[in-house]
Amino acid sequence: GVALEAPDRSVDSVCPYCGVGCQLTYHVKDNRILQVTGRDGPANHGRLCVKGRYGFDYVHHRHRLTKPLIRRADAPRTPELGLDHDDPFRDFREAGWEEALAFAAGGLKAIRDRHGPKALAGFGSAKGSNEEAYLFQKLVRTGFGSNNVDHCTRLCHASSVAALLEMIGSGAVSNPVADVAEADVIVIIGSNTTDNHPVAATFIKNAARAGKTLIVMDPRRTAIARHARHFLQFRPDSDVALLNALMQAVIEQGLVDEAFVRERTEEYAALKAHLAAFTPEAMAPVCGIDADTIREVARVYASAPNAIIFWGMGVSQHVHGTDNSRALISLALISGQIGRPGTGLHPLRGQNNVQGASDVGLIPMVFPDYQRVDNPEARARFEALWGTALDPEPGLTVVEIMHAAKAGEIRGMYVMGENPAMSDPDLAHARAALAGLEHLVVQEIFMTETAWYADVILPASAFPEKSGTFTNTDRRVQLGRAALDPPGAARQDLWIVQEMARRLGLDWNYDGPASVFAELRRAMPSIAGISWERLEREDAVTYPCPSEADPGQPVIFTEEFPRPGGRARLVPAPLRNAAELPDGDYPWVLITGRQLEHWHTGAMTRRATVLDAIEPFPVASLHPEELERLGLRPGEAVTLRSRRGAVTAFARADRGLSPGQVFLPFCYHEAAANLLTHDFLDPVAKIPEFKFCAVRVEPAPGP
Ligand code: SF4
Repeated sequence: GVALEAPDRSVDSVCPYCGVGCQLTYHVKDNRILQVTGRDGPANHGRLCVKGRYGFDYVHHRHRLTKPLIRRADAPRTPELGLDHDDPFRDFREAGWEEALAFAAGGLKAIRDRHGPKALAGFGSAKGSNEEAYLFQKLVRTGFGSNNVDHCTRLCHASSVAALLEMIGSGAVSNPVADVAEADVIVIIGSNTTDNHPVAATFIKNAARAGKTLIVMDPRRTAIARHARHFLQFRPDSDVALLNALMQAVIEQGLVDEAFVRERTEEYAALKAHLAAFTPEAMAPVCGIDADTIREVARVYASAPNAIIFWGMGVSQHVHGTDNSRALISLALISGQIGRPGTGLHPLRGQNNVQGASDVGLIPMVFPDYQRVDNPEARARFEALWGTALDPEPGLTVVEIMHAAKAGEIRGMYVMGENPAMSDPDLAHARAALAGLEHLVVQEIFMTETAWYADVILPASAFPEKSGTFTNTDRRVQLGRAALDPPGAARQDLWIVQEMARRLGLDWNYDGPASVFAELRRAMPSIAGISWERLEREDAVTYPCPSEADPGQPVIFTEEFPRPGGRARLVPAPLRNAAELPDGDYPWVLITGRQLEHWHTGAMTRRATVLDAIEPFPVASLHPEELERLGLRPGEAVTLRSRRGAVTAFARADRGLSPGQVFLPFCYHEAAANLLTHDFLDPVAKIPEFKFCAVRVEPAPGP
């Protein structure tokens, strides 16, 4: 074996990747991470997946940005991505911090002063801490002067949050993942849990082995389905048909929890009338699941003493994502499966701080703690706290900002740690919008595809280089601790945001993350009882936690819902089709998503040696019969073409997909999946439809 060097120190922190929020320890020598080990945190009990354990050496990669960069005068932007990934710094010159900050903030200020606050927008990050997200949205709201601030929550669970807020008054999960130990039945829908929330999946698999009933519903048979007693492989785009039929089957079989519906919900009569047409027989041909199975699964779920539902992007990333979520929430409510340990609703949050970034107001329609910007009382509270008048109009969302940029209405942007030039739908459009901006400031650790469009790039800190709080999918606020110094002249993100704010005329004097967190507690009643000192002592506290004496509340809605009258509202979900259905020219359905080893747009994991060695090349997965029909063997090249673009990847066989479906991960810049997707949005949540668009699949000479 290989003898590991002895570390000089070990630093307890949390994982920088998914929302499970595993606690870990960095073992460090000479400002380099030697090894990562799992800690006994409440979400992982010592377990880590391949990303948490081996995905850390990106921080030492030679591509790290170590000096501020300004675009060379002779390197104009073109809409087509011209980034040379082997020589990423080609189009930029190095600058000092003073020059870079003056140029970055000066350009934004000039646009604000000439064209008004709404000509600017900011994208923050779900990978930053709560303190960074809070300061960033405060900068946009008080420095730019509008609510044009959003982040990638728009692209993942915006529809789940919209439906949860509308129906039960709170956008977060009702019960933690650990509640699978208390559940009799566990339902997973639209989540490739093994790949995307790997450590959470291990606890679900343990529960299934211990005899609990696991029900998995997904158009793609993913690894977790192997552990399921019932697996329902429904047709893509038919979620509402299936869920409405399940509810109708609950009603028909007399399994509605009448007392719960009477005492804790409203508008049941309208839902019941709406569902009458959705009989299992009528919906079976629509969703591809036979009526007896629908009845059986409805019976197992509704009659269980305790049943919990998990869902992922397969539910949320549709133009009917809000309706999908509404139907799921109604199913839990009419069955009385919420408000006790082992029950409830758990939208599995993707990034390690997407829950926290949303909680602290990094979204255009709400201030911290989901207080609406168009509510005069909420606005008055934040005007008093921040000492300035605030815009009463909700701002634009991620894709709306790109449309406004393309139309010339948004002229300047500040992007902190997001990569819309890879993550937005219809990339040709999004990249043209970025290229057309008058002034783009990007704060990053690598030359991402978005940074390539920047006028100025501010080199920031990687996760292990900073301290801050992060909120996992369970609503658990956890402390991440700095283990390393940032390389070269790279700086802490909090420092950079504060320096930008000062140059935009704001008098900010925060003395590190603890002082920002102290203000956050004043802004957010939900975390008022969580102090920095308490987090240093306990490492993790779950909100709501309104007072220091409160131990934190993992299970909520036990007595009432946070809505007027304390009751949940049942909202019917109509059938609506995907925005772009397959046809003769584009007969396949494209499903995009993640792989176990790679994270989002790949900026970190593709620069992590072990992860890149396991999955180095873009792959497109198809059913083996389709490969045969196309005359392809696994590993040969295949081109996917939509109305918006074409990409080429290596073909992989996947029996979990049905014929006519192709799965493409979105982390590969050489085969960017979002060149193919479209930007039609869910009308309520404005989330794009990453899980369904029409493509053509052809053999290719080579990627
Ligand atoms: Fe990190 Fe998520 Fe893996 Fe845990 S499950 S180690 S939080 S990526």
